[in-house]
Amino acid sequence: MSDKNFDVIVIGGGPGGYVAAIRAAQLKMKVAVVEANHLGGICLNWGCIPTKALLRCSEVYHLAHNAESFGLKVKGLEFDLQKIVERSRGVAKQLSGGIGHLLKKNKVTVFDGFGKLEGKGVVSVNGKDKLTGKHIIIATGARARILPGLEPDGKFVWTYKEALVPDTMPKKLLVIGSGAIGIEFASFFKTLGAEVTVVEMMDRIVPVEDAEISAMLEKALTKQGMKIIKNAKVSKLDKGKDEVTAHIEGKDGKVEKLKFDRVISAVGIVANTEDLGLEKTKVKLDRGHIVTDGYLKTDEPGGMRLAMSRVLHGWRIKRRMRGSFAPRRSSAKKTYTRWISLTFRAVLIVIRRWLVSV
Ligand SMILES: Cc1cc2nc3c(=O)[nH]c(=O)nc-3n(C[C@H](O)[C@H](O)[C@H](O)COP(=O)(O)OP(=O)(O)OC[C@H]3O[C@@H](n4cnc5c(N)ncnc54)[C@H](O)[C@@H]3O)c2cc1C
Repeated sequence: MSDKNFDVIVIGGGPGGYVAAIRAAQLKMKVAVVEANHLGGICLNWGCIPTKALLRCSEVYHLAHNAESFGLKVKGLEFDLQKIVERSRGVAKQLSGGIGHLLKKNKVTVFDGFGKLEGKGVVSVNGKDKLTGKHIIIATGARARILPGLEPDGKFVWTYKEALVPDTMPKKLLVIGSGAIGIEFASFFKTLGAEVTVVEMMDRIVPVEDAEISAMLEKALTKQGMKIIKNAKVSKLDKGKDEVTAHIEGKDGKVEKLKFDRVISAVGIVANTEDLGLEKTKVKLDRGHIVTDGYLKTDEPGGMRLAMSRVLHGWRIKRRMRGSFAPRRSSAKKTYTRWISLTFRAVLIVIRRWLVSV
């Protein structure tokens, strides 16, 4: 096999991609990963890991504030936002670097660049290097959803990327969307002293969690002083010199205008499926997401093409390629149960913090 021919080519080096790649290599396949940005994907670089590093700092800050209830005395407690951010970036960098070592150790070849399908079993890297593979795994992940009128500008309006590396501590922060990501940032900045308002379209926060979790979390966050506006949407943001006026529209159509100095838009994610060359294949898309069967296999015949996200998917796909994995109806459910329990951990951090203070 030449150095450009592989058993498996994985496009995307996030948790979905690198786990699948390592498992395939362990099963004696010749594997390549094509990654356009940083190994570890969003999770290690701009998601799960750096947010948890920030949350850990705010948790320690909160504990120190409540030191007396533990019989401890802490005087002159302050925080340095830039050092908190540096620590979070350092943790992300260290873990991302670790993925490079893991891939090398497992003899997976990494190509830096944008991967694109160029016909059956062919993937180009930055339009140049042409790799061939018997199997191709698409693990290109997702990015922040941008709603019209709420476009991030990197200054007043942030996505999770800017919120992870804030240049300033917001005084009055608006978080649009109360999913796990929105609530994590709301909790972080609230604990460090920002006045935080969360606007959620649904009738409860963290709407994908169980209703009991939503109710308990809302109680905990409200007790901390967070303002939560449900059944409402932010329809417009008017930007001034130093502040943003948000038009918050209730279900009855009434609009309340509130001023903030920073806004985080956390209204969901969209799949990275553009410019992948999918139009040359039989892969079907549903609202930008790749349609797969119970084996995470697409409609492209012959060389198996699979779309997936996250660790368990990657692992399942490799077993399927070896023919040792039969999907059960409960398999997908299991994956999502694991995912939910991960977001639930973030929820628990907030609840635990509340319990500590009572
Ligand atoms: C702020 C935040 C906090 C989160 N917290 C948690 C959490 O606590 N727990 C949890 O389980 N999940 C969390 N998530 C979600 C988690 O990050 C994702 O579920 C996970 O990263 C998905 O992994 P993936 O491999 O499918 O995609 P990604 O991690 O998005 O990786 C995809 C990779 O593909 C690369 N890529 C894209 N297109 C191409 C191309 N054409 N060629 C080459 N490379 C390409 C990208 O550069 C990227 O590195 C969080 C997300 C965010 C944004």
